Amino acid sequence: MKWMDTHAHLDDKAFDKDRAAVISRCAALSLGIVTIGSSVTSSCAAVRLAGRHRGIWATVGIHPHNASSLDEAALRELERLAKDERVVGIGEIGLDYYRDLSPRPCQRDAFRAQLALAVRLDLPVCIHNRESTDDMLSILRDAGTIRGVVHSFLGDGELANEFLGLGLHLGIGGPLTFPKNGILRDAVRAVPLDRIVLETDCPYLTPVPYRGRRNEPAYVTYVAETIAELKGIDPDDIAATTTKNALRLFGVGSGSLS
Ligand SMILES: [Zn+2]
Repeated sequence: MKWMDTHAHLDDKAFDKDRAAVISRCAALSLGIVTIGSSVTSSCAAVRLAGRHRGIWATVGIHPHNASSLDEAALRELERLAKDERVVGIGEIGLDYYRDLSPRPCQRDAFRAQLALAVRLDLPVCIHNRESTDDMLSILRDAGTIRGVVHSFLGDGELANEFLGLGLHLGIGGPLTFPKNGILRDAVRAVPLDRIVLETDCPYLTPVPYRGRRNEPAYVTYVAETIAELKGIDPDDIAATTTKNALRLFGVGSGSLS
């Protein structure tokens, strides 16, 4: 496995017409994918996709937008799904105070409950944080020892250090390539490469030069090129280190995509 996209939504309807072609482009690049659940239904779909392709793994979780759907039954179903051998993490979980699609107390309860599930099952987490940093940091500090990825990290160097201090990795994706994101580029320049994993968040957050179109896992290479320029490191070394980080974090081998 040369590349890892640690955050894709391959079950999204944006891929319904050509999912097989998207996946075969990944196979050609030797690119593995972690496809992310955002509801019970999408978690089931992620597990099914991972079961059909050797280079795809799944996470299961309830996105903060859907936090009000997390009841006891949903939590039990996530736990059942999480025991599938293709499931490598709990996510996408977290807080989103920008869109506020579930009430904030409900988002916090769902986040805490799923962090506890991850700790109990000894799985890493994929964390979504949007305009909710204070509550995010305090919940993470209370959660005990967790490992995982702050997905689509968009903060400055100070916030990067807060998350690194909690033992988390930073997921870096398409926004790094957007012209206005100088603060993020400064942060990434300073973050040790062994704490970075690549991601697309496809079908969203498409990097330059395809910005405005649908994103797909193969475009993770544009993110790597930008990190390479920022750090003055060869893109192949960015690929090798970030892939090693991802495989270690998610506890998976390097079997190729098929
Ligand atoms: Zn996502």
